[in-house]
Amino acid sequence: MDELEPVLAVDFDKTICDDSVEYPKFGKLISGAKESLQKLKDMGYKIKIYTCRLNGQAMSSGAFAEQHSSLIDWLQENEIPYDGITMPSEGKIFAEFYIDDKGIRFEDNWDEVVSFIEKNGNIEKSKEDRISWRDSLNEKSMNESLSQALSEGISLEIKKIKDK
Ligand SMILES: [Mg+2]
Repeated sequence: MDELEPVLAVDFDKTICDDSVEYPKFGKLISGAKESLQKLKDMGYKIKIYTCRLNGQAMSSGAFAEQHSSLIDWLQENEIPYDGITMPSEGKIFAEFYIDDKGIRFEDNWDEVVSFIEKNGNIEKSKEDRISWRDSLNEKSMNESLSQALSEGISLEIKKIKDK
């Protein structure tokens, strides 16, 4: 993607994909997302998906590859028009706009931002979300170590057979 092209950074969960199933499973397409992203592309914007599913935490826990391929499958199955997916190494990407269910628009209005959070924030609920995210990563790492143990076991068996 040309770095001079106008980018829209678009969140995934609860912005394109709903939360009708338990995370980290993939929910259903949110109504209007596909058509709206196409309209934005037709205006000349490049759509870049940015998601916590592919953050540094996912990378370090070994869950990245699995999440990345499942995300691409979902985007293709749902025919989502997009131009790229942000990688953890990119950090905060340069974008014209961020489209995100977690966003609060800032317009020199810190007081309003604070009262919005006071009114709408739910620290306990967001803690549950963080726990479920962390658990999903741990689950992945466990599977990873299991498959590593299995493959090491298999190599050992092969070696034993060869040594005979
Ligand atoms: Mg979201």
